[in-house]
Amino acid sequence: MDSRQKYFINNELNNYYGDIRILEFLKYDKKGDFKCVYCGEKADSREHIPSKVFLNEPFTTNLAILPSCKKCNNSYSENEQYLACLIDYVQYKMDNLKAVKRSKIQRTFDSRANIESEFENSTKYTLTGNVEYIEYNDYKIKNILLKLSIGHAIYTLSLIHLDEPNIINYKFLPELTQEELDNFNSEPVFDILPEIGSRGATYISILENVIPISTWNIIQDGQYRFLAFQEKSTITVRIVIGEYFYSELIWEN
Ligand SMILES: [Zn+2]
Repeated sequence: MDSRQKYFINNELNNYYGDIRILEFLKYDKKGDFKCVYCGEKADSREHIPSKVFLNEPFTTNLAILPSCKKCNNSYSENEQYLACLIDYVQYKMDNLKAVKRSKIQRTFDSRANIESEFENSTKYTLTGNVEYIEYNDYKIKNILLKLSIGHAIYTLSLIHLDEPNIINYKFLPELTQEELDNFNSEPVFDILPEIGSRGATYISILENVIPISTWNIIQDGQYRFLAFQEKSTITVRIVIGEYFYSELIWEN
């Protein structure tokens, strides 16, 4: 066995075929010494990527689980709920729906009226009663997009400890032109292969002329999908939630 090969032999973790040098960031049990994927401190809990607040029941059984510390875990949960509720609220208002799309979000609004009233207070109407715009908390949204992207990048590309991205873009569906949407949804051709053995590699299809292509990972059809890929000088993670919220994070080397 050559020295490289041994890094990819891993029977301990189902669904992971990546580099075991980052295993301490991918696995968690109480006895072991594992690290929080977000801050690098000792992990004392674990969590799903993506968080269940973005998914509907029944959940898929093969959600990625990553080690984290309780401090990071707790710090994200309020903002995750904010983003999940905001997406449904914006769609409810912009598409003139009778109710919010997801029953889970409706239950949250029912049990925590302050969340919905906060959104209502951020909604500005024209004199004729149409929605003019909805103000939202950019910091909370970007905080969660970064967190989700770190989780997707470690799991699919075997990349850890990404710094702040150079670009974080997000838009709601009505803000996108058809051309922007088509570009966003297209599956890019790789300049660089992801590290051999990482999960990303299992999603590459090799065409006749040996151009590898990265494909979308559908976590829950219509509710959550993401695409993570690495090119010569950039790493990109795209996340789509509810087919209504489109985001892209780019790190430049
Ligand atoms: Zn942490």
